Formats: sequence, C-alpha cells, structure tokens
Amino acid sequence: MKLAIIEGDGIGKEVIPAAVKVLDALRMDVEKIPVELGYGKWERTGSAITDQDIDILKSCDCILFGAVTTPPDPDYKSVLLTIRKELDMYANIRPIKPLPCVNGILGRNDFNFVIVRENTEGLYSGIEEIGEDASYTKRVVTRKGSQRIAEYACKLAKSRQNKLTIVHKSNVMKSDKLFLDVCRSTAAAHEVEYGDELVDSMAYKLMVSPEKYDVIVTTNLFGDILSDMSGALVGGLGLLPSANIGAGHAFFEPVHGSAPDIAGEDLANPIAAILSLKMLLEWHGNMTEAALIEEALESTLNRGIKTPDLGGSFTTEEVAESIVDHIRIKF
Ligand code: ATP
Ligand code: MG
Repeated sequence: MKLAIIEGDGIGKEVIPAAVKVLDALRMDVEKIPVELGYGKWERTGSAITDQDIDILKSCDCILFGAVTTPPDPDYKSVLLTIRKELDMYANIRPIKPLPCVNGILGRNDFNFVIVRENTEGLYSGIEEIGEDASYTKRVVTRKGSQRIAEYACKLAKSRQNKLTIVHKSNVMKSDKLFLDVCRSTAAAHEVEYGDELVDSMAYKLMVSPEKYDVIVTTNLFGDILSDMSGALVGGLGLLPSANIGAGHAFFEPVHGSAPDIAGEDLANPIAAILSLKMLLEWHGNMTEAALIEEALESTLNRGIKTPDLGGSFTTEEVAESIVDHIRIKF
C-alpha cells in the first residue's frame, strides 16, 4: 500500500505520529509518503497546497490526514476543499459507535450506526448570488450525485445490518424528491431494507433512540449537522474518525480540527486519529489488523489509560504506547 501521510498543523503533528506508531507496530508492507500541507507551509512558502502535492496525493492508494488550521485570510486557499474537489471525494463517512469506559451525552452504549453524507453538492454547491438586500445559495441535487452516494450507502448497509434510513426534507424542498427517489430505488435494487425520515424528526429520534439505526444516508448540509450532533452520543471530538471516499481515492481523518489551544502539549487525544487509521485499513481490506487496533484500544480504555479530555491523566504518547504494547504482544 502506498500511503500519503499528512500531519498538517496543531495537534495534527501529535495525533498523526501517534497513529503512525500504531501502523508501524502492525509491521505491514506500507510505503509511507509524508506530505507537508497547511497553514504552517503557507506561512513558510506562501502556499498551503501545491499542484505537485495534489499529484503526489493522486498517486497514492490512500491518505491519512491530521488537521489543518484555516486562517480567516481571504487569500488562503482551503486545503481540505482543494483536496476534496481534486480527488472528487463524494462520500463522507462517519461511524457513530460507543467506546468502552467512555460516556457519551446519553450515558448509553447500545447504538452503532454510520452516517453517509453526500459531500459534493446540496447546499454546499458554492453557487451563490450575494447581494446587499438578498442573497441566494443554489441547492444542487443531481441523479448522478444521488446515485453514487446511494450505491455507497447500500453496499455499506449490506456489510452491516442491511438497514438504510434515507434522511431528507422533500415535503418542503422539492429538490429532495429526486434524492429520495434515487435512494429508494437503489436500496430496492440492492435488496436493502429501507425507510426514510424528515431531517428534523431524525435529529430528535437519534437523540431518543439511536439504537434503531444502522446506515443513514443524507445530503451535504443535513449530514454535516447530524454527524456533529451524533458525535455527542460517543463522548467527545477526540474520539471520532471519518473517511472521505472518491472514485479510486480515499482520505481518512479525525473529525476534530487542529485545536491550537492545546497544541504542542502532548495532551491531545490520539483515538480519533488511530480509529481513522483503522477505517483506512478496513477500506484497504486489512481486516485482521483493523480488528487488532480495536482490541488494543479497548484494552487501553479498560485500563483507564486516557487523555485529560476523557478525565484521564495520560499523554498522547502514553495512550499510543499502550496501544502499541498490546499489538506487540500479539505478534
Ligand atoms: P480548527 O480551526 O483547526 O478547527 P478548533 O479550535 O476549532 O481548530 P477543534 O479541533 O475543532 O479546534 O477543537 C475544538 C475543541 O475541542 C478545542 O477546545 C480542542 O482543544 C478540543 N479538542 C479537539 N480535538 C481534540 C483532541 N483530539 N483531544 C483533546 N481535545 C480536543
Ligand atoms: Mg474547528
């Protein structure tokens, strides 16, 4: 596997090296290509990401990414948006799964679902008309865009409990009728059991009965909101991994940002980054290694080895070392 490794800025420089230690402990055949991107690079060179960087990323099988700081400077070209566009990463995947000895907002651990968010169109189309007294953003729903996200969600559902929930607001926004219809017919074609929910009702139901859901597929803005909200069920930003999938490219990153407030202090929770590595290995078909990471992580949490955000007193490095030690015993 040819793997691009982007630490980025802030705590990206701590949590990605922690995840790489875990990867190294697995002794896999991986060619690691470090790529420097982000605000630090922009300050040093005047560009946060170059065409050459994009070519390197395109030449790799997959990408492990930390976080980048996005300054309010209008000249700054967003690294994440550039990568998303260049690699056409249309699916954003967020598993919402409880971890042992960590309490989420509801204090329960009987749920396990995944949010599949369309990542290229919807209200984030970027097609805008900004005026003094009125501004408009065009909400884009295409058959092609809906089809490919529906296909992805159905395949994922088939590998899980075969249950799909389509989230929309087609009673008010007619553009969602196309999304809903395409998702329904794709689910029927794949023989996936499906239902649908209006997004407002879904927000309520996820907080009241999260255990009822398996795979949720939705449009860009709804997915953005529901996935952040659902993150609270697990218990903290430092725990949530994500994947961005495109045709032939895949990019894995913790949900959290560069957290400048705690950067450089060895306090950052590396779990989101390590779980992002686990998703990467699953995507690549390395199921045994992915399962080993999960087991090592559970053992670490069960022994109370946690960073301060989870009420513990261990450092980023100590958490990573504990996971590495558990993996080494298995070899
Ligand atoms: P950015 O502009 O890069 O998004 P941010 O300040 O918004 O940076 P986030 O990473 O989104 O930072 O974090 C929000 C809050 O959550 C911060 O207070 C941060 O310290 C905390 N946080 C985020 N990630 C972690 C982590 N891995 N471990 C511990 N705390 C974290
Ligand atoms: Mg942020």
